[in-house]
Amino acid sequence: MNFIVILLALLLAVCVALLLIERRRARRFVRWITDPAHNPMPEMSATWGLAAAYTRRALGREQAHANESAARLATLLAALDALPVGIVLLDREGRILFCNAIAAAHFELDPARDRGQHIVHLVRDPAFVAWHEQHADTPLEMTAHPDAPGLSSRLMVQRQPYGDDCALLLFTDVTAQRQTEAMRRDFVANVSHEIRTPLTVLAGFVETLQSLTLSRDEQTRYLALMAQQTTRMQALVADLLTLSRLEGSPPPGMNERADLRELTTQCAAETHALSVRLYGADAQKIEIETAPDFDLAATPAELRSAMSNLLANAVRYSGAKGKINARWSRENNGGARFEVADNGPGIAPDHLPRLTERFYRVDRSRARHAHGEDGTGLGLAIVKHVAERHGGTLQIISILGQGSRFALVFPQARVVAGQTEKSL
Ligand code: ADP
Repeated sequence: MNFIVILLALLLAVCVALLLIERRRARRFVRWITDPAHNPMPEMSATWGLAAAYTRRALGREQAHANESAARLATLLAALDALPVGIVLLDREGRILFCNAIAAAHFELDPARDRGQHIVHLVRDPAFVAWHEQHADTPLEMTAHPDAPGLSSRLMVQRQPYGDDCALLLFTDVTAQRQTEAMRRDFVANVSHEIRTPLTVLAGFVETLQSLTLSRDEQTRYLALMAQQTTRMQALVADLLTLSRLEGSPPPGMNERADLRELTTQCAAETHALSVRLYGADAQKIEIETAPDFDLAATPAELRSAMSNLLANAVRYSGAKGKINARWSRENNGGARFEVADNGPGIAPDHLPRLTERFYRVDRSRARHAHGEDGTGLGLAIVKHVAERHGGTLQIISILGQGSRFALVFPQARVVAGQTEKSL
């Protein structure tokens, strides 16, 4: 009996010992399988070895899968980040899950710090908050950075629901579009205004001629005034067509040739004639050097239009008995310069940046009466366009009360050896 008890006790002790050993092995195994980098591989029986191999393979597959998913997600987020539109992903509560770089810049968000924040706590524009809370499916136009005028831009925001009540907000910058629309509206308004004035004058004269019996002299005088208005409208239409041609045609190639002596001689003759026509005996003292020893790779008609615009302005604005000088010269950097200087009234500095805007005039009444003919208000816009199409610039230096200098400056690449041998 005692012997049997001892045997059973021994058996029990062996079983407990074996169980403890297995438990230790199992622990070591689990430690190794879950973190093989920091735990040594335990000694294993064939069965444990097999189990380990299967588990390791399954874990490896799982890990590779997880790595692949993480890499795919990172690529996707990088692509969203690189999109030229702002994107914000929101959860069902309206908390930010992700925002790309453009959206972050629009609203000064920090993509990492602001994750999990409610969008309406960060984008506080009341129109946006109301729109967001209504879950509106029509787009909203709003302003980004309304307090920083230099940075402020017009944004169109659209909401696209996705997943489980989540939403994707898409912010498109429509600033340039709105500016173009405004420019187009202003342009149409300006053109209408410019045409309406001479038309009203013409209509008045027509009515007078129809309703009153006029002497021959009066008739002649009225007809001359009507002709003046027609000329004004023709000039406007011609300048508008020139501008649209300049905008619609490809930039002048380097094979084009403008014979500067010929162009300058033609412009000089026109300028003298204009001055005499406007001021008669008080015509200005005009000196134009007509013999540059180089030519330009430029479209002759465009260059001529730019040069004659500058010369005509000098004549019209510098007044009777003024002095006008014009010449071509070379720049230190090899470029070319056509400068027209007058001793007219000059232009105040605050007008200078706007002079080349379409229809911008420093002083409408002076522009109208000082030279007896209306300008179209498009001259310098055309000049600037021509300069830029040739890779050049229009420089304006003017001092109020002393005079103005307008210069067309072209890069060296446009300068070519003079070809005209004519003596001028
Ligand atoms: P406009 O047809 O009125 O002459 P421009 O575009 O040629 O239009 O010129 C714009 C404005 O610039 C003119 O209305 C005038 O006020 C000013 N301006 C241009 N040239 C001169 C100049 N040489 N001296 C003074 N003001 C000038």
